[in-house]
Amino acid sequence: MAADLGADNQAFDEKHDVLKSTQTVIHKALEKLGYPEEVYELLKEPIRMLTVKIPVRMDDGSVKIFTGYRAQHNDAVGPTKGGIRFHPNVSEKEVKALSIWMTLKCGIVNLPYGGGKGGIICDPREMSFRELEALSRGYVRAISQIVGPTKDIPAPDVFTNSQIMAWMMDEYSRIDEFNSPGFITGKPLVLGGSHGRETATAKGVTICIREAAKKRGINLEGARVVVQGFGNAGSFLSKFMHDAGAKVIGISDAYGALYDPNGLDIDYLLDRRDSFGTVTKLFDNTISNKELLELDCDILVPAAIENQITEENAHNIRAQIVVEAANGPTTLEATQILTDRGILLVPDVLASAGGVTVSYFEWVQNNQGYYWTEEEIDEKLEKVLVQSFENVYNTSETRRVDMRLAAYMVGVRKSAEASRFRGWI
Ligand code: NAD
Repeated sequence: MAADLGADNQAFDEKHDVLKSTQTVIHKALEKLGYPEEVYELLKEPIRMLTVKIPVRMDDGSVKIFTGYRAQHNDAVGPTKGGIRFHPNVSEKEVKALSIWMTLKCGIVNLPYGGGKGGIICDPREMSFRELEALSRGYVRAISQIVGPTKDIPAPDVFTNSQIMAWMMDEYSRIDEFNSPGFITGKPLVLGGSHGRETATAKGVTICIREAAKKRGINLEGARVVVQGFGNAGSFLSKFMHDAGAKVIGISDAYGALYDPNGLDIDYLLDRRDSFGTVTKLFDNTISNKELLELDCDILVPAAIENQITEENAHNIRAQIVVEAANGPTTLEATQILTDRGILLVPDVLASAGGVTVSYFEWVQNNQGYYWTEEEIDEKLEKVLVQSFENVYNTSETRRVDMRLAAYMVGVRKSAEASRFRGWI
């Protein structure tokens, strides 16, 4: 249904294989850190990958069989953790890569987790509420043996939300015969969700933008910002940038993009977007996502999907700073081009780690049964992200590597060390 889901896109994704490029950087990072080849052999793929079939009775009476995955990358540090994605383009490779990225994120922000990730091949935009509930519950039944509050803790990702987390938590609690809020994060507040979880990814990206802007001497007040994607990450980020005095001159969704050199009315757009982050359909005067990425601006934030900045358009990017809110929006070739052109690229595994950080806070609150205020969450998140940004930036400076490789070096070390201490390698 969506404009992004054609056959062309699949061929393109095969060319820009996210798993292969992740493995390339992991390999380089481990080499730089001086680890032997067997560490790479262990960390290049998830230690566990489950493929499941989920039968769902659809509203028209037919039964549709959905395919889902759960990948657990490495559990040497602690339980694995990572979101569940509902999207027609979900693939085994993508879920594997996403689980590795989660290990890196948890390592960068120093959480006691390894990475995990799940996904179901489906288009929730074409499913009813009842069908979505049946699919969510069926998925939990199918993966229940390998997940749990001390084993693997899921969370929301693309096209999943707090309602889906609530159904999943309820299903797991029935199987476990125990109320298990710590099974999943990103829940509604009344079910043990955390203050600040919904906006956590965007807040983390905002902190990274602020820190990156300081390094480049850019004043956020009046800075021109372009955001690709107007879903959970992109819309809240646009709002935070707007509130910080920046001028959000471009935003987009899967169907097109909006541009106003004087700054868009973000509050109005937030009010009009639907729950899938679609808003441009309401306007006639749109530009394409391709044009959006190449707009003259100070800060560009890809906050939609993978492989958006490639060797084809990296030479045309006019931003001074690119901060990746989405997972994997820039290919390795494009990373090189942007770095060579002196553009500061803040990589996904650092920039979008705010979500998992507050997910961790949610899990801690569930375990201790004592809940923090939004101010307390914000303060803790701020501390973690500022420290993590500095850590990656300094590694990049002292080791003379780009920010992506620096982030991988910081992120992979904890799992490598934990695996070594456990005697696995
Ligand atoms: P979402 O489903 O809420 O929104 C996605 C947005 O991207 C929508 O506006 C959609 O229309 C748009 N989009 C989809 N295909 C597009 C295309 N081809 N071109 C342009 N726009 C397109 O998703 P989200 O939760 O905001 O996640 C966005 C990205 O951020 C993903 O890569 C996700 O993995 C990453 N991320 C999200 C979180 C989180 O907590 N939500 C955490 C870490 C990383």
